[in-house]
Amino acid sequence: MRILLIEDEDELREQIAEALRERDEVVEVAASGEEGFYLGSEYPFDVAVVDLGLPDLEGQEVIRRWREQGRDFPILILTARARWQDKVAGLEAGADDYLVKPFHMEELHARLRALVRRAAGWSQPVWRFGPLVMDTAAQTVHVDGRPVELTAFEYKLLHHLARNAGQVVSKLELTEHLYAQDYDRDSNVIEVLIGRLRRKLDPEGNLKPIETLRGRGYRFALPRDEG
Ligand code: CA
Repeated sequence: MRILLIEDEDELREQIAEALRERDEVVEVAASGEEGFYLGSEYPFDVAVVDLGLPDLEGQEVIRRWREQGRDFPILILTARARWQDKVAGLEAGADDYLVKPFHMEELHARLRALVRRAAGWSQPVWRFGPLVMDTAAQTVHVDGRPVELTAFEYKLLHHLARNAGQVVSKLELTEHLYAQDYDRDSNVIEVLIGRLRRKLDPEGNLKPIETLRGRGYRFALPRDEG
């Protein structure tokens, strides 16, 4: 997942970013409301974590402006305040969930995954596409009951494609979801990864889970089961 984190407390921001990166997530950070608002307006994110108490632009206002622009990624708010009014105001501004500080990183990560999953229209963590089954909690993949061993990178790639099943995802978008800003963004790497993913998921070549649309990108082509 590509996560935007807006938190003005340096130590906490670094702790959260590090904890999420250790869990293989891509994290972009902002220390102020203005900077965070800009990043969320200009770049694609799967989910945002927004501290409500920010020195320049309040978290609530950041969220309100994004929603006004039509930015629809899920948002989790962080608040140090135990006042219920703040949570309500944050949720009414357009946030989807909240955590009160201090919290456990494991809980934050689980909530973010759940938000992204629900935004993709799944109410539970196991995604079924006929013979291909992804358990997004355990991060495992099975095809026809056979476990498929994927690297963390391949899994992320498949997760992003499957989350957007039926839609064309450009190479640029995939690159942005897989790498942090300062990484190498060679799009040939995506081609190589897609090739590897296809061979692992579909060694016989009869399932064809990922289509290439020349000049446009890739599409996860298996129809999803209800649920
Ligand atoms: Ca703060």
